[in-house]
Amino acid sequence: MPNQPTYHIIGAGIAGLMCSRFLRKQRPQSKIIIYEANNRPGGRCYSYDDKEMGCRLDNATHVILRGNRMASALTGVHRWPSQTYFWDAEKDTITSKIFKYHRQILKSMCNTQAEDIPRKMIKNICWKLFPWSKHQLGVYFSKNDLTQRLINPMLIYADEIKYGHRLESVGVEFGKIATLHFNKGILELDKNDIVIVALDAAAYSKIFQSRDFTFNSIINVHFRTSQEINLPKLAGYMGIINGLADWVFINEDIVSFTISDARMTVEEIKALPERLWKQLDILRGVNSAFLPPHKVIIHQNATIAQDVYNNILRPENAQTKYGNMFIAGDWTMKDFPCSIEAAILSARRAVKTALTKEKKQK
Ligand SMILES: Cc1cc2nc3c(=O)[nH]c(=O)nc-3n(C[C@H](O)[C@H](O)[C@H](O)COP(=O)(O)OP(=O)(O)OC[C@H]3O[C@@H](n4cnc5c(N)ncnc54)[C@H](O)[C@@H]3O)c2cc1C
Repeated sequence: MPNQPTYHIIGAGIAGLMCSRFLRKQRPQSKIIIYEANNRPGGRCYSYDDKEMGCRLDNATHVILRGNRMASALTGVHRWPSQTYFWDAEKDTITSKIFKYHRQILKSMCNTQAEDIPRKMIKNICWKLFPWSKHQLGVYFSKNDLTQRLINPMLIYADEIKYGHRLESVGVEFGKIATLHFNKGILELDKNDIVIVALDAAAYSKIFQSRDFTFNSIINVHFRTSQEINLPKLAGYMGIINGLADWVFINEDIVSFTISDARMTVEEIKALPERLWKQLDILRGVNSAFLPPHKVIIHQNATIAQDVYNNILRPENAQTKYGNMFIAGDWTMKDFPCSIEAAILSARRAVKTALTKEKKQK
């Protein structure tokens, strides 16, 4: 069809894939192409076959709160079959009073110490994202395969996903993106084409020399065990206070610990699996004979630090200074925790902004 634009999406993380989904719904006949630097989709959210552990692992435990409406609709209903409990590792007490531990919940949601989180973000968490009113956390999770459950169903919306295509720079003419410069060559755009950049904050800043974000890390430690692991109260997961990790999750034969905003020395990380397993022994009231096979995954730049400084650097909307270029990605949703929900919301906003502008120009 003449004058039909092609929609070029950069990045096949959740934001990029969701852009293709929203675009396909609005523009069923249009050409949609995604360019991804990696050789797999999913960005920070994926599963892989771990040779050492001999099983499929999620790169990180991803949970979705009931208040994350878009994300929980996408995952379907797979609720963790238990209420949320917190174990105080120092006092060895267990409680379900989540209000008492709101600082820990905020830290996990924002991967940032609670006292550094901007007030507006906390307000959004309280009013939009967190199911306070139910007095319990509705937690949805990927049952051992994020790629299969979350990512693969989103691959059908684009006409093509070009893997191994790393965007390195762009060419600009008359205030619009005219060329996309990939490691594989230069792509010339037609004058009506639209570009949605759905990169992580570090990649975006590097290409567009825009913002000087700082990042916080997350550490996940996965154990694979043939023992049946039962937590007190028959809990499927538990928050940990005054312990080494913030959360422990039981997912069939995999026990995973998550440490948000992790600041540890190499020596501390080395000692972590043994110390975590000992702590789990105390929680379970057992004495394990040996340490099961385990994997420590360190996500150095897991998310931008969600503090006041970084929040100011986040964009106000999806429009960039280039007329035909829009942005999506978890970090682009100012005042929202960087999460699956934020990535989806950002995709919806980017597509809406792009199509509204396109309509006005016709
Ligand atoms: C350890 C960990 C635990 C987490 N836990 C949770 C959780 O429990 N609940 C929750 O909701 N969220 C969680 N998150 C956050 C969630 O994973 C992210 O918010 C979400 O995946 C972000 O999606 P995105 O599409 O915005 O970015 P990304 O997933 O980062 O996607 C960006 C894509 O762009 C690609 N790319 C980068 N540079 C280029 C380039 N130059 N050219 C082309 N492509 C490029 C990347 O390869 C990537 O595929 C967690 C994150 C981590 C790391």
